[in-house]
Amino acid sequence: MALDTLKHKGKRNKLIQLLRSKGIGDEMVLEAMNQVPRHLFIDSIFEDLAYEDKAFPILSGQTISHPYTVAFQTQLLHVQRGEKILEIGTGSGYQTAVLVALGAQVFTIERQKELFEFSKKILKKIHFPPKYQTFGDGYQGISCFAPFDKIIVTAGAPNVPKMLLQQLAIGGIMVIPIGDEAQKMYTILKLDINTFETMEFGDYQFVPMLENKEL
Ligand code: SAH
Repeated sequence: MALDTLKHKGKRNKLIQLLRSKGIGDEMVLEAMNQVPRHLFIDSIFEDLAYEDKAFPILSGQTISHPYTVAFQTQLLHVQRGEKILEIGTGSGYQTAVLVALGAQVFTIERQKELFEFSKKILKKIHFPPKYQTFGDGYQGISCFAPFDKIIVTAGAPNVPKMLLQQLAIGGIMVIPIGDEAQKMYTILKLDINTFETMEFGDYQFVPMLENKEL
């Protein structure tokens, strides 16, 4: 069976139209999402539903985000080609692929071993390789590659991790859902070494960003 058939492409086009009708206006983001075969990031039992605006269970009890959420978070990042982007919570690797499709240099961290391995394999297979992919704790960021132009957190964080603020470049943007049971989406713009401007963008539901747990 072909990896990405005309049928998949047709459904993907419809999903892009749906995202546009739900208010996603950044055509670069929509074009990037139109390039990524989402059905290959989820279990084949969900294949027929892969291009609906739905979240699905992935390995290790985690969840692939709704396409709308991926589009919304990506839009808030204002990605420019060549930028260094740190992603916390690789999960399936779908969001990673969308950032790679936008021409970013992506550095991504996942704390679940089987998801780290799954995402690494699929991203290589479909030729959307991040610059650097690691298994570890996102609260630490990746100091050896800092500063990052942008940081995207795709798990619900109880608060803003300090190390991530430090690793954000001046002028950089972090997009992060904050809250325990449910989250609100925030952007944090780093104006200066200790000066940040925060904006809130509505309610979302993510799996938790886990802290101080054995890997
Ligand atoms: N962007 C992903 C969403 C995955 S859900 C996708 O498109 O599929 C969030 C992911 O964050 C989960 O895989 C979870 O294991 C991971 N995660 C939670 N806490 C983390 C931490 N402290 N460091 C790194 N990853 C974490």
